[in-house]
Amino acid sequence: MIALALHGGAGAKAGRDYTTEIEHMAEVAAQARAALRVGAAALDVVTDVVAALEASGLYVAGKGASPNAAGHYELDAALMTGHDQQCGAVAALMDYPSPVRVARAVMERTPHVLLAGDGASLFAAEQGFEAVSDPDHYFTRAGRFESNHPPGTLAHGTVGCVCLDAQGRLAAATSTAGVFGKLPGRVGDTPLIGAGTWADANAAVSCTGQGEYFIRVNAAAQVAFRHATGEALSAASDAVLARIAGMGGEGGLIAVNARGEVCVPFRSQGMKRAWFSGDGEIVSEAF
Ligand code: ASP
Repeated sequence: MIALALHGGAGAKAGRDYTTEIEHMAEVAAQARAALRVGAAALDVVTDVVAALEASGLYVAGKGASPNAAGHYELDAALMTGHDQQCGAVAALMDYPSPVRVARAVMERTPHVLLAGDGASLFAAEQGFEAVSDPDHYFTRAGRFESNHPPGTLAHGTVGCVCLDAQGRLAAATSTAGVFGKLPGRVGDTPLIGAGTWADANAAVSCTGQGEYFIRVNAAAQVAFRHATGEALSAASDAVLARIAGMGGEGGLIAVNARGEVCVPFRSQGMKRAWFSGDGEIVSEAF
């Protein structure tokens, strides 16, 4: 059994046309399905899917990132495997185009889980990752495109992927520029293991939304823990999002379990997302 879900953020706004993103997500999901069918590992698939979403410039992550209040691009990312609970993350990383690949290097090449700020950039340089030479030229798309929002509203965007591979392994990855107009140094839920990104033997979860709320309920891990106690994956996901909504927050998540069940709920105007389970159709939607 293989299954996968990806998201391009719960910041989708009613009335906007996301045809390009919907087609792109379907294409990325199709490539991932082809890889999974020939035995690709869940960790490689979530890394490659999130890297492809980052590189597209269509979502508020990687090339599509939005700047912080000081005009700088500080990016967050994390990934985690379910079968052995390995994880890696970067927070407030500047100048590197694929935060998820740097997060993977943190996981595989250091004894640490999370590197932040200058230390994360230094690590990326030492590991040979190519830096963005001209941020003004590189960061061109979604961040500025979508940034017409009322001040103080925590408008946001993110990308993520969760996956079950043919060997029964689960993995999750998430990457973001965070919320629009964030203060320098602000870190959201995305790179915090358990809050925005989580995988264990039962479920893999990637969140999107106003990270401040997702942190306060440790959202991604909560979904997996509730599911592990017998609650259906969709009921567990809905319960966590309802709690966030009850606190005044908005967002959504994608989750897959070890049986290949997928759910993609959101409590926001929309959430760009695509998914499939087994040999089922790939569905790609924004609302
Ligand atoms: N959760 C992300 C953050 O707060 C933003 C998003 O998902 O749109 O940094």
